[in-house]
Amino acid sequence: MNTIIEPFKIKMVEPIKLTTRAERERYIQEAGYNLFLLRAEDVIIDLLTDSGTSAMSAAQWSALMRGDESYAGARSWYRFEATVREIFGFEHVIPTHQGRAAERILFSVMVKPGMVVPNNTHFDTTRANIEYLGGRAVDLPCPEAKDPALEAPFKGNMDTQALEALIEEVGPERIPLIMITVTNNSGGGQPVSMANIREVSRIARKHGIPFYIDACRFAENAYFIKLREEGYQNKSVREIVAEMFSYADGCTMSAKKDAFANIGGFLCTNDASLAQQERDLLILTEGFPTYGGLAGRDLEAIAVGLREVLEEDYLRYRLVSTRYVADHLTERGIPVVRPAGGHAVYLDARRFLPHLDPLEYPGQALAVELYLEAGIRGVEIGTVMFGKDPHTGEERPAQWDLVRLAIPRRAYTQSHMDYVVEAVERVWARREEIRGYRIVEEPPFLRHFTARFEPL
Ligand SMILES: *Cc1c(COP(=O)(O)O)cnc(C)c1O
Repeated sequence: MNTIIEPFKIKMVEPIKLTTRAERERYIQEAGYNLFLLRAEDVIIDLLTDSGTSAMSAAQWSALMRGDESYAGARSWYRFEATVREIFGFEHVIPTHQGRAAERILFSVMVKPGMVVPNNTHFDTTRANIEYLGGRAVDLPCPEAKDPALEAPFKGNMDTQALEALIEEVGPERIPLIMITVTNNSGGGQPVSMANIREVSRIARKHGIPFYIDACRFAENAYFIKLREEGYQNKSVREIVAEMFSYADGCTMSAKKDAFANIGGFLCTNDASLAQQERDLLILTEGFPTYGGLAGRDLEAIAVGLREVLEEDYLRYRLVSTRYVADHLTERGIPVVRPAGGHAVYLDARRFLPHLDPLEYPGQALAVELYLEAGIRGVEIGTVMFGKDPHTGEERPAQWDLVRLAIPRRAYTQSHMDYVVEAVERVWARREEIRGYRIVEEPPFLRHFTARFEPL
């Protein structure tokens, strides 16, 4: 069959409240034109994030019921730990309430002021956690990643020549770890090839620098490798995942992504002395090392989700549904990051609204228009998110201005995606009338979450 269907049926539904344009005009004005400040019930299709928004399976819901809520040494913890070890292959598993808690603990132990952490592209909380500790987060995307329109199979790769040059420039002793993010979320949800992971690992080992993977979308990345990289067509996703992580010394993970959980995360390492320091910090802010800020039932849901996400029927549907939206928009001449990423479609707001200066926040302007048009909530990934240097307070255009439409796992159907395509098309038809924004209020870190805007 040519039609690839959602490989699940729906047992329980969640109603969507439909709103009018006049209502949405009022809601967005009250929210200071920041989509994070809207009430979720006033959103029709919520593509703000794929994080924690997955539909859990019947198997996950039933696993919740066997959650062991013992403070220490719960059965649910052992099931969780065994699953993570089996899939990722690391010795020490540290549970956290979400991905950023894993990052904070990892960096608190490894990063000292003045140190430099390279990544293909840092996710926003990853960057902020490094900068908060006085470190410098350096993005080293591969050259192909810089052209959003270019079709290339692994645009998530790290530029390994730039990595070598950086190590030469700052010295390996000032690089506490090298990270690679799979898939590259801030860089368009693009996958990283096995060859690139292997090469980054080789460079890291040569210089005695630990190598970590930001594993949030590990299964989507593995399936891209299976589809696109020579030599992996006949390997199972599970084998590909095992190989990816065999090159690393540890990982951070948000279970809100590729584990179909509504909350959770973990940190892994093979280094016993680091693990000890990390557990000490964990107790301070997250909880005892056998629950780490999670309920026993959460650990159960994650353990089941980590196995389900490796099912290839699911992954095929997942990548096809994202590509469906990206390809329909491309056919209509609308600028999107090519090729489609795994979890999201990224509109190229700078090309969509070429009459706006990056400092008039074209990504923000486009995100607001999609909400006004059809109640769709996406997120700006651009100058609002990355344009301000937290040390100097200086503002400059980010590398790109995108609107990310992240697709929650198993939550929406194809008709919802057809609605999204139609809405983007309608905004495209009146793009010349769209004006920019200015910021009227902002916090010192992660300003995109709470800043307030005014139309220009
Ligand atoms: C979501 C995400 C994180 C942070 O995880 P949270 O669970 O949101 O704290 C880190 N890195 C990447 C690539 C992510 O997508």
